[in-house]
Parts: sequence; C-alpha cells; structure tokens
Amino acid sequence: AQRMLTQRHEVEQLLAPLRLSRADLERVQGLMRQEMERGLGRDSNADASVRMLPTYVCNTPDGTERGDFLALDLGGTNFRVLVVRVMEEGIHMASEIYVIPTSIMQGTGEALFDHIIECIMDFQAKQNLMEQVLPLGFTFSFPCQQLGLDKAMLLTWTKGFSASGCVGQDVVQLLREAAERKQHLALKVVAVVNDTVGTMMACGYDDPRCEIGLIVGTGTNACYMEERKNVGTVEGEEGRMCINMEWGAFGDNGCLDDIFTTFDRMVDEKTINAGKQRFEKLISGMYLGEIVRHILLAMVDKQLLFRGKPSLKLQTKDIFQTKFLSTIETDGLALQHVQDILRDLELDASFEDSVLVREVCQTVSLRAAQLCAAGLAAVVEKMRENRGLAQLAVTVGVDGTLYKMHPHFSHNLQQMLQDLAPNCAVTFLQSEDGSGKGAALVAAVACREP
Ligand code: ADP
Repeated sequence: AQRMLTQRHEVEQLLAPLRLSRADLERVQGLMRQEMERGLGRDSNADASVRMLPTYVCNTPDGTERGDFLALDLGGTNFRVLVVRVMEEGIHMASEIYVIPTSIMQGTGEALFDHIIECIMDFQAKQNLMEQVLPLGFTFSFPCQQLGLDKAMLLTWTKGFSASGCVGQDVVQLLREAAERKQHLALKVVAVVNDTVGTMMACGYDDPRCEIGLIVGTGTNACYMEERKNVGTVEGEEGRMCINMEWGAFGDNGCLDDIFTTFDRMVDEKTINAGKQRFEKLISGMYLGEIVRHILLAMVDKQLLFRGKPSLKLQTKDIFQTKFLSTIETDGLALQHVQDILRDLELDASFEDSVLVREVCQTVSLRAAQLCAAGLAAVVEKMRENRGLAQLAVTVGVDGTLYKMHPHFSHNLQQMLQDLAPNCAVTFLQSEDGSGKGAALVAAVACREP
C-alpha cells in the first residue's frame, strides 16, 4: 500500500505541470488579448506572435447570394477543385480530389501552379464547364499578407509545402501566370480565402450570428470580425473586417514559456519548425499523441508504467496517434480495449496501466481544450467590448477532425469558455465542407457588393 501511495504521488508530480489552474487560463486569455492588440497595431506588429492578418472579407453572408462559382482548396489534407451553385433552395456542390505529389509540393512554384491549372482544366472538362467563366474563390490555407481580396503574398509555407519562388509572391498572380502559360484564358480569380474564413462564411450562410471561424485539425487557427477602425494595418474606419489571427503562433515570442512542460519541449524539438507554432503544438491533432507518447516514456522510465519495461516501439515518433486519445477516452470503453490498443504498440499493459494511460490522455486533451477556450475567450470578450455590449451572443463555425471526433474536446472547450467569458453566449456550429463552400461564398459576397 505504501508503494502504491508513493507511485500515485510520483504520477501526480509528473502530470502536475499539465494541469492548468483557472488562474493560469485567465493569464493565457490576458496574454492572447495583449498579443491581439499588438498584432492589430499599426507598427508594433513586427514582434507580436499573433499576426492578426487582414482578409479583406468585410461581410458575412446574408442569404441573398446567388450564382455559380469555382473553388480551389489547397492546404488541407487534400487538394480539391469544386463547382459551387448558390441557389435560393440551397447550396449544391460537386468536387474532385487531386493528388499533389510530394515532388511538386517541394519542387518549383511554376510546376506547382501549372499542376493546379491542369487540375482545374481537367475538372472543367469533366463538369462541362469549359465554355463558362465562373468567378473563382481560392482557399489557400497558408499564412498570407493580404493586400486585397484577390491579392495575397505568401509569408511562409507550412504543412510540408516548400515550392520555390513563392514566398513573398502574390499567389493569385502566380495562378494567373500559370493560366497564361497553359493558355487557360478564362480564369477569373476574385478572392483568396484562409480556411478559417471559409469555415466562418460557410456556417454564416446558415447562421447570421456566425462571426468567428475556428479550426482544430492538423493545426489550429481562428478568425473573427473586427472593427475596421481597430485594424491599424488597413485604411478605413467604417464597418468590420475579418481578421485571420494565425493564432497557432501564439507564444512564439516566449510569452507562454511557463505553460510549456518538458514534454512539450521534447515534442517541439523533433518538429520541422522547432520554436514555431507553439500554441498549436499544445492543442492540435498533429501533436497531442506525441505529447502523450513522451509522458508515457517518462512514466516507463520512472517505473510507473508497464513494469518499467522499455519498449522500442514507443520510442518511435508519431507511433501514438491522436485518434488513439479519442478511442481511449470514449466513455464506457472497456479497459480491455485500451489494453488492445496498447498491445498493438507492443506494450503489455495491466489493468492499472490502462487506467493510467487513460488518465494521461485525458490530461493532455483537457489541457488542449482549455487552452483553446482561453484563446477564444479573449476573442469573444474583445468582440463584446468592441460593440459596447453587456452581453454578446455569437456563433463559432468550427472545422477539424480533432474537434469533431474527440469525445470530450468540444464539451471541455465550451464549458471552459463559459467560465472564462461569462458575459458571452457562444454557440458552436460544425461546418460541413467549409473550405470549398466558404471560398465560393466569399466570392459570392464580393460579387454581391456594388
Ligand atoms: P486538416 O486540418 O489538415 O484539414 P483534419 O481536420 O482532417 O485535417 O485533421 C487531421 C488531424 O486529425 C490529424 O492530425 C489526426 O491526428 C487527427 N485525427 C484523426 N482522426 C482523429 C480522431 N478520431 N480523433 C482525434 N483526432 C483525430
């Protein structure tokens, strides 16, 4: 019994840095708010970790949008070309997935954009759209400095892309040049859209209160409608503009250093962008499994798990997938199933081991949801203050497999958000196919305007 007490104490010690107090989360919320203000500022945004990029999207849909549009979706799991018909009865879409070979993702910019044009031409031929010039919305989910709705300078590639000659260039221009090279003279690009903005717009079509977009998938990011007069980097005082926060980079300037644990540091060190996207690395699908793996390794090392028997397999990067957290944390799942998952990893887990692994998963996913809530709390509170309201009712359009598939993430997020921003009534709406639909709606809203 004494030994078990000591073990419990050691487990608690190991997990303690991952358990955030209410005060910790309020501090994160305050820091996010501070970084947002700095990012929005006219000249101080050079050292803000949250870039607060203007999107030139000034309105959410009002339901009167109509027309046929082409949409491209680049930067998610798949590259897709879509035709989106926005009609009175609703939105109809058809799409094709095209593969972008790694050699093209990491080759020259010309080859990448030529490939994209070829895919568009193939799609138009298949859909019998060769004769028409449809307005095109381009969901391009990489950080861009936008200078207009149809002008977006790529700041950096992420997610495994590295095509040469693109950083610092206007991606719409690169697309138009490729169209010229390919003699595709009927391309009318009207908007470049980040996936967060696409998600907000897609949900905004169904719910006019949707003025926030959130992604919790491979990475995490958010956008929201800011007062134009607060956007120091864009002229104009009237109305609002959607801001792509690029909040995954929150903390890259060191402001979250005391939140990061040794496990987070170990995960970060082994990534291709060490020291970057620090907030994202605490929250999103690409990293949660890795954090759990490092905690399990430390527990084995301290003889707290698997009888201290080292496992070679557990030392393999990414072997513990984030989807395992979803399974292991499912309510009512027999511990036998947890043991089965662990056995596939060549881990011989006792009943007690399974209980402990589940506790580790819960700790890591709860922290992720709570940090995400702290970020969102800063956003909704700012919107409420902007509008001089005692109470704000707002909807968040959400996409991303982690948010959609994890059994407790969304609940934990919503509960913590309510605690941290009690004067905001926040509704969450899951987007279906937000990237493609959203890009078309941005194009539609742009076409609607005089
Ligand atoms: P993207 O953000 O690129 O569009 P997704 O939204 O599909 O991609 O998210 C992919 C991420 O979701 C991966 O990092 C993966 O680990 C994670 N994931 C996949 N299945 C699950 C699941 N069942 N539960 C939680 N996370 C999952």
